[in-house]
Amino acid sequence: MEQKSIIIIGAGIAGLSSGCYGEMNGYRTKIFELHNKPGGVCTAWKRKGYIFDFCIHNLGGSGKSSRFHRIWEELGPAHDLPMMHYEEFVRIERSDGRAFNVFTDIDRLEQHMKELAPGDASVINKFTRAVRLFTHFDMWELQMGGIRAAIRMLPMVWALFRWRGITLQDFAARFSDPFLRQAFPFIHYDSPEIPVILTFYFLAGMHKHDLGWPRGGSLAFSRAIEKRYLDLGGEIYYKSRVEKILVENNRAVGIRLADGTEHRADIVVSSADGHTTIFDMLEGKYVNDQILSYYSAAPASQPFALHVFLGVARDFSREPHAIVLLLDQSVTIAGKVRERLDVELFNFDPSMAPDGKSVIKVPFDSSYAFWKGLYDRYEDYQAEKDRVASAVINLLEKRFPGIKEQIEVVDVATPVTIERYMGTWQGLQVWWPTEKAGAVMRKGLSRTLPGLGNFYMAGQWAEAMVGLSSAAESGRNLIKTLCKRDKKPFLTKIPGT
Ligand SMILES: Cc1cc2nc3c(=O)[nH]c(=O)nc-3n(C[C@H](O)[C@H](O)[C@H](O)COP(=O)(O)OP(=O)(O)OC[C@H]3O[C@@H](n4cnc5c(N)ncnc54)[C@H](O)[C@@H]3O)c2cc1C
Repeated sequence: MEQKSIIIIGAGIAGLSSGCYGEMNGYRTKIFELHNKPGGVCTAWKRKGYIFDFCIHNLGGSGKSSRFHRIWEELGPAHDLPMMHYEEFVRIERSDGRAFNVFTDIDRLEQHMKELAPGDASVINKFTRAVRLFTHFDMWELQMGGIRAAIRMLPMVWALFRWRGITLQDFAARFSDPFLRQAFPFIHYDSPEIPVILTFYFLAGMHKHDLGWPRGGSLAFSRAIEKRYLDLGGEIYYKSRVEKILVENNRAVGIRLADGTEHRADIVVSSADGHTTIFDMLEGKYVNDQILSYYSAAPASQPFALHVFLGVARDFSREPHAIVLLLDQSVTIAGKVRERLDVELFNFDPSMAPDGKSVIKVPFDSSYAFWKGLYDRYEDYQAEKDRVASAVINLLEKRFPGIKEQIEVVDVATPVTIERYMGTWQGLQVWWPTEKAGAVMRKGLSRTLPGLGNFYMAGQWAEAMVGLSSAAESGRNLIKTLCKRDKKPFLTKIPGT
């Protein structure tokens, strides 16, 4: 039987996953990627021996107890990279010396919280009881779907009902100890407005080692999947920006690159940025109300949009993996008043910096409009980046005296940097749909486009769902769908078996 050909746009995790499963199932695949390396936003860059890692904090399914682990085995990283797990996820500190250590072992966390705030023992018990309950539940199995996952979910229904609508901030208000009340909302240095249920999943996942860090970080992880894809016989063309998806009689037939060359295939898949795919490559001709409403609700500002990276000639191996510094006095950074500094220290993985040295990353939420306005006046843009870096360094100097003199490299990445290097419209990550979120969770936002044949999307933009595991799963599900349409069994394979 003649093999069908597939063109895949983008070598992010979803594009690579689509390619790997396509090759495992007898399709002839080619990936066209605008960058010169794989990974998309799951990336890193090297400066003077320091690796500045943009992406991974926690990889879902990193532990063998999760059903999702098998997918990372099929795609290569679980086979090639040792998974590392944090002892202490974050330490939330105040300048008076009080510190809340978020240990990943639940017993240790409970003991520590009770030492910090003995009067809050009953609230702490409720909290750790909920986290323990969630250890019985494999979030990534649910994502993979199926009846087995749904049945296993049943005992959780009551807990989901009980905790629904309660944010971290709401839960923190239950503590009588003022420090714990202040520190608790930053338990995973994200928005205090996120549902506390996510924290239960998250802490349970870290306790069970289902959440971890692949040694070498984001780029090593992406390279492991790239290797798997090439070993399976796939082809990747780097520095190949796709400008147009070629359509004849409302069926996708190929692509046109920025250099003018055209490439044809039986099926076209885009795992590239959703806005670029739908509104530029396809000129907005294949949309519905749901897609239009989603893109018209793009957020003005997002977390993890601005990053300050520092290469420091100092050993931070005694420090935790991340520190939230609660500031005595607020400071304005990148046009916004900040009450805290989130400091990530890559000390747990020695491969990230030369011996005895360390990488520090300080992420902020930020707005594209703020940075784009400056970028159009390039000197102002550079000056603002310098101002952000020096504000961060001055704050770090108070916590780590002497650090100013030890900094060897400084790099600031803004939403404009992300747009330029990672090809994402306005440097944005996927946001939560404001309309019909339940339906989008089940069916994706744009796995296919209305009225366009032979065309599919995979990855975070197809699903409107952020995450490495959902990107990998989306590529896998796409090939499963194609196999079903072609009336053939869906095959998977772990390397070396
Ligand atoms: C700062 C940050 C931290 C994160 N941390 C985590 C974490 O800890 N755990 C987790 O699970 N998830 C995390 N995520 C989310 C996760 O990284 C993403 O959801 C996932 O990597 C998306 O993969 P993707 O393949 O769908 O998209 P992308 O990574 O965006 O891949 C799209 C690819 O298409 C290419 N492309 C774009 N336009 C074109 C074009 N015109 N022609 C050719 N190629 C093109 C891009 O260069 C890119 O390679 C994080 C994301 C960010 C930004």
